[in-house]
Amino acid sequence: MFFPIIVVFVKKKLNIVMPMRYAIISDIHSNLEALQTALDHIGTRDVDEIVCLGDVVGYGPNPNECIELVMMHCSQTIKGNHDQAAVDLMQTVYMNRLAREAAMWTNKQLIPGAKDFLAHLPSKASIENAVLVHASPFEPEEWHYIMTGLDADLAFDHFDTPVCFIGHTHRAGHFVSRTNGNHDIEKRIINVGSIGQPRDKDPKLSFGIFDTDTLAYENVRISYPIQKTVDKMHTAGLPSELAERLFYGL
Ligand code: ZN
Repeated sequence: MFFPIIVVFVKKKLNIVMPMRYAIISDIHSNLEALQTALDHIGTRDVDEIVCLGDVVGYGPNPNECIELVMMHCSQTIKGNHDQAAVDLMQTVYMNRLAREAAMWTNKQLIPGAKDFLAHLPSKASIENAVLVHASPFEPEEWHYIMTGLDADLAFDHFDTPVCFIGHTHRAGHFVSRTNGNHDIEKRIINVGSIGQPRDKDPKLSFGIFDTDTLAYENVRISYPIQKTVDKMHTAGLPSELAERLFYGL
């Protein structure tokens, strides 16, 4: 039990950078079944730490439970636009009707400790060889979407590590910088996809595993009990469109 603490202490004292394997999760959206399934799987893998790229809440039926698990398991968590909207309803003016309804519902459910956690999340963080943001390294709190190569080209100018991890679009994938551009190194922007509401036509939950030494990256997709989440959403009175889309990954 004391061994990992001693190792971390010695590493810090000697300023040694050790290779680490991270599970990188994002866009949980209060989907407890998906989050628990992902954490169970991560527990079977050779992973040192878990980090979360935000949108812990919004859309789904279990905001407090998901926040509790994230607080327990993630060494770093970034703020997402839905996390911000859930504690600052003024932000819902930028949302569509369904997202706004869900944010208002979430705001009423959140216990004080959960609200406090969301309100104080940072908009950017880093691990060895990678920067972590919710939407884009360019103006992280403006929540720019990176959907195309052109979007990515702009974002490549705003980080200096080999990799930038993002979520926000709920679509797993990656962009590689042009090697003849202004950059000394080839950079990658990797979208880890969404735990709780995938939108790339694959309803399986999505996240990534990253090795900070080799820069190897694996996208993991796993099925989870969607019907259970959908039933809870109907019972909670959340918009039915938000529940049904989970079956289709839309
Ligand atoms: Zn999201």
